[in-house]
Order: sequence, then structure tokens, then C-alpha cells
Amino acid sequence: MAAELKQNHVGRPQVNGDHSTSERIQIVDEEKKFTPDLTTQIEKWGLRDAGFSYDIVAVFGSQSTGKSTLLNRLFGTNFDVMDETKRQQTTKGIWMCRGKNMNVMVMDVEGTDGRERGEDQDFERKSALFSLASSEVLLINLWEHQVGLYQGANMGLLKTVLEVNLGLFGKKTQDGTSGRTLLLFVIRDHIGQTPLANLQNTLTVDIQRIWESLSKPKDLQDSRMADYFDLAFTALPHKILSADAFESEVKRLRNRFVDKQDPEYVFKPAYHKRIPADGVAFYMENIWEQVQSNKDLDLPTQQELLAQFRCDEISAVALAEFNEQAKSQKRPIEAGKVVDGVGEMMRSWRKMALERYDRDASRYHQGVYKRKRTDLLAAIDAILSPLFLGQLKNLHKLCLSTFKKDILDGLKGDDYDFAEVVGKARTKCEKRFTEGAKEAVVDPESTQWSWEDELELLKEEVKIVGDQCRKDETKKMVNTIERNFKKQISEPVEMALHKASPNMWDTILIAFKETLDKTESSYLSKARSFNCTEEENTLALATLRRRTWQALRSKIDEQTAEAVILGKLRGHFEERFRYDEQGVPRVWQPGDDIDGAFKKAKDDTLDLIPLYSKIKPVNLSVEYTLPDDAIAASADTSGSSEEYDFNASLTVLSETRTLDITNKFRKDADAYYVEAKRSTVSSIAH
Ligand code: GDP
Ligand code: MG
Repeated sequence: MAAELKQNHVGRPQVNGDHSTSERIQIVDEEKKFTPDLTTQIEKWGLRDAGFSYDIVAVFGSQSTGKSTLLNRLFGTNFDVMDETKRQQTTKGIWMCRGKNMNVMVMDVEGTDGRERGEDQDFERKSALFSLASSEVLLINLWEHQVGLYQGANMGLLKTVLEVNLGLFGKKTQDGTSGRTLLLFVIRDHIGQTPLANLQNTLTVDIQRIWESLSKPKDLQDSRMADYFDLAFTALPHKILSADAFESEVKRLRNRFVDKQDPEYVFKPAYHKRIPADGVAFYMENIWEQVQSNKDLDLPTQQELLAQFRCDEISAVALAEFNEQAKSQKRPIEAGKVVDGVGEMMRSWRKMALERYDRDASRYHQGVYKRKRTDLLAAIDAILSPLFLGQLKNLHKLCLSTFKKDILDGLKGDDYDFAEVVGKARTKCEKRFTEGAKEAVVDPESTQWSWEDELELLKEEVKIVGDQCRKDETKKMVNTIERNFKKQISEPVEMALHKASPNMWDTILIAFKETLDKTESSYLSKARSFNCTEEENTLALATLRRRTWQALRSKIDEQTAEAVILGKLRGHFEERFRYDEQGVPRVWQPGDDIDGAFKKAKDDTLDLIPLYSKIKPVNLSVEYTLPDDAIAASADTSGSSEEYDFNASLTVLSETRTLDITNKFRKDADAYYVEAKRSTVSSIAH
């Protein structure tokens, strides 16, 4: 047996008579190879059929802190203890013994003193991780004076081990498939001046700090130390100076491993890995393989350590200079300024920083140099990114306000094509933004630096502004068109109403329709160049129809105002009563039929009044009605829409007004009659 041979080679005397149960086995040798003999050894120890009734304990701590001594005392094992007088060389590796009269597998790690050699550190880390991952209780052995000393207390190693342990086995533990672990701190050579409670506090704070500083896997970011580990603390007096006290304290501590009734019994079920004893060898070998193949544990060489240190320094200098440069544009951009050529500046700062770093750092270990370069680049880009985003925002604002201004300028005067003005301004705006944004992208390869979303936003705002302008323009245009309509309709209405005739409404409505047609097509041709929507056109046309009708109606009202209409009637009457058929003024002679002529002229004129009073074409085909949407349309820009009573608008003179006008006209006519009569009387008198 290999284990047997080694044991013989080391030449330890057998501690007790039971040969097989006190046998040691080197489970991992100097070549970091796991023994194939563990299963056999477990069988020899009589533990193969123990099921879950066994425990595993291991130890962690600096060289020559009395670890092996302690284990031997606690478990009756026979690990090698360094003999001061002989400076005897012990065999490196991980050793395992069965506790005397206990179902406990005890592991001891044997290293060498040459700690600074990378080779030894590698073994130290791996064996420590293995101990932590495979045991229920890990004794963390340290001198009292090491407490609070980060290096001395092996805390650096512990940190690495906890970190890798979390990465390798953290998930499994959380699943509940394997138990928790007890970290039992054993403070050696405790003088007693500092009470255990104080030492315990220091250690708890230290290890908690270590836990927080671990780089944890993404899904275990929030994991707490307490999710995995319990902490316990004990102290032992000086083995030589207080030999008795040491012995009794060791005894007490031993009891915690042996006596299930002890309130501080350490092997709680929660710590058990739930691996049946006959599977332990396989299980442990598995853990060792994972530990062995884990790259995180590969130790940096001296070269790498140096590179890390120097590359960090060089990177810091480069970054500091870069920062100074970046600061110069931070304020203007934050103040809303569009900094011309900011992309060029950023590129040059970045390039300079990288060149500076490359010049000094590229001589060092390539892996480290490259890794740190990536870090530096990330730090640089993190500073540049807000500048880029700020520039985009400012550019956005600037382009939008320029767009508005360009439209206002373009719409000055009368001779412009609205759609062209807006189209030009929009193209200019988007071009300016795109150029500016592209310029500001430091590294087009990097996908995070995108400006397309901002452009989309700008486009939307440009559209809103453009739409608003178009609405305003459309309103303006409708107003102009309405003014033109009024001009055009004025004369035909005046002409037709001047001389009332039965078909005067036909004339007016035909003129109205013609003018309206012209008006509508004039609107449509303009609206086309505005890119108005169908909906906008429908609305504008409805408004236009209603407003032109109203314009017609007010023109009619103007022409049928009382004074105007009485004038027309008077004129009509005079023409018939004071002039003869040839248009020669009449001189009344006695005997002339004044009464007859008066009655005829008056009746003739009175017949006109009903003609004026209602818009009523003779030919029904020219009858006009206002379309429904025009009836509902709002007549003004205020948007308040009130249904228009079109039928009511056909009545020009109400009955009362008709009566009133009739009466007034009669009086006028009577005055003419009296005047005519008088003139005959005076001619007789001559
Ligand atoms: P290990 O390398 O940590 O396993 O330490 P050892 O158990 O081999 O012991 C190293 C040396 O320290 C030996 O000479 C022991 O006699 C001595 N030693 C063991 N325990 C104690 C202790 O509690 N206090 C002191 N001062 N020395 C001890
Ligand atoms: Mg030892």
C-alpha cells in the first residue's frame, strides 16, 4: 500500500496498538495527485459502512502554529509535528487520519516554510480551498498576536479561498444539497490580557469585511456570509508557559468534538455534507479535481504581480491627465453649448491616454497589460459618455430652434412655397444633427454610443412644429381666400339686388356657386403644396363653405338694410311715377290721371318687396343648400362651433321688417303723390 509505505518512510511510531485504525494516509501528494487508496483506507478504518454517522474536520493556518499538535491532542491522531531539535523535514501534502475512538476523518495540511515561492502558494491555496469545501468544521488556527493583522492572520489567503469557494460551490450550498460549514477560530498562545470577546470581535469584523470585498458571481451578489458559514471562537493558553491550563482547555475543546451532550458540540447536522461514508473518497476526489482545474486559483507569477502594480500606476497617471483634458469641455456641455468638434477632441484625448499607457505598460506581462488596458479604456469611455450624451442633447435643442427660425424666415413675404420652406428646413435640421452626432461618436465600433434614438425624437418634434406651422398657414390661407371671395361676390350681388327681378336670386346663387368653386379649387391647389392631410382639407373646406355663405349673407344684408332698400324702392317708384315711358320727366296737367299712375307705380314697387324678402331662385335647379359638415363647422378660428341655421338664413326680411318697410315706402310714395297733386294746383293758379 502506498500509504503504508509513506508511513513507514516517515517512520512514525504507532501510537496505539490497533494498527489499522491509527493508520495515516496521504490523500494528496507532493505532485498534487489524489490518492486512489482512500476508499480502501476508509474501509480499513472501519468507517465504510458508517453511512452518515461520521464527520470530517480540517485545519487552516500558517506554518508552525501548532496545527498538527492541536489535531493530535484533540483527535488522538498521529500527524507529523515539527521537531524543533531535529528540524525534521515533513512530507508535504494533505494527510488524513481517523480520530481515535471517534467516527471522524481528520485532515491536516503539510506545507513547507518557503512561503514566498509561487509553487508553495499554489499548493497552499488549493489545499486550503479543498479543506474548506470538503469538511464540516474548519479549524482556523492562529496566534493571538496575529489577530487583526491582515497578512499575519492569513486573511489574504482566506479571502481568495472564500471567493473561489463561493464561485465553485456557492450555488450548490444554497440549493441545500450540501450543508453549512463551521469556521472555528482557535486562538493560540492566548495570554489572557485581551479577553476572548475582544479578539472575537476583531476577527468577526475582519472576516465580515473580507466577505464584503469578495468578487461574487452575478447571481450570488447579495449572498451573505451567514448564508454559508457559522463562526465560533475559542482560545488556548500557551502550551509551554501555561502547560496545565493548555491541557485542560484542550480537553474542554476536545469535548466539543466528542460529547453530543456538550452545549457547544460542533458537529451539528446542518454541517454534514450528507455523503455516505463509502462515497466519501469519490466525493473528495471530485472536489480536488474541481479545485485543481480552477483557473482562479492559478497564482500570479512574480512577473504578473509586478505587472499588476506597474500597469495600475501607469494607467492612473494616464487617466489623471485624460481627466484634466475632459474637464475642459465638461462645463460648456453641461451649460447647454454645442461644442464644435468635440468628437475630434475626445478621440485625441483618448488616443493620447492610450498611447501613454501603451508606451510604458506594454513592456510588462502581456496578459496583465491587456487586461488593465481594457479597464483603462472602460474608465475613459465612462467619462466620455456623458459628454457625448450632453452634446447630443444640446445638438437636438439647437437644431430644433434653428428649424423653427428657418421656417419663420422662410415664411416672410408673400412669395413662398410653404411645403418647400418646411422641407428645406427639415432636411437642414436633420442633416446638421446627424453630422454633429456622428462626429461626436468617439468609437463607431462601440454599440453603446448610439444617437439614432435621439434623432428619432428630434424628427418627431420637428414634425409637431411643422404640423403646427402648417395649421397656422392653412388658417392664414383660408382667411386670404375668404377675403378674395368677398371681393369677388360683392359686385354680382350689388348688381342683382340693385334692380329687383324675379330671377335675381338665380343670378346671385349662380355667381355664388361659381365663386365658391373657384375658391375651393384655389384652396385645394395651395393645400396640395402644404401636404395637408385629407382630414385637414375636409375641415378647411367645410369652414370655407360656411364662411363664404355667411359672407354672401352679410353682403345681402348690407344691400337690404332699411335705408338701402327704401332707396331702391324709391328709385323704382320714381322711375315709374315721375318719368314717362320714354324716360322724360312728367309735368302733370290738370286732367292727367295722377291717381291711376300713382297706383300703378306704387303696386309695381310693392311687388318687389316679397322678392327681396326671401332667397328663392325661380329655377329650382340653382337652389343651394349648405353641406352638413359646413353647417357643423366652426365659422371662426376659436373653435367654438355652433350649428348654423341655414334655412333661417334664407329669409332676408322678416315679416315685421317687411311690414315696416312697406309702411315706410307707402309714406314716401304718398309724399310723391301729394307733391304731384300740388304741382297741378300751382299750374292752374298761373
Ligand atoms: P504546524 O506546522 O502548524 O502543524 O505546527 P506543529 O504542530 O508542527 O508545531 C510546530 C511547533 O510549535 C512545534 O515545535 C510545537 O512543539 C510547537 N507548538 C505546538 N503547539 C504550540 C502552542 O500552543 N504554543 C507554542 N508556543 N508552541 C506550540
Ligand atoms: Mg503540521
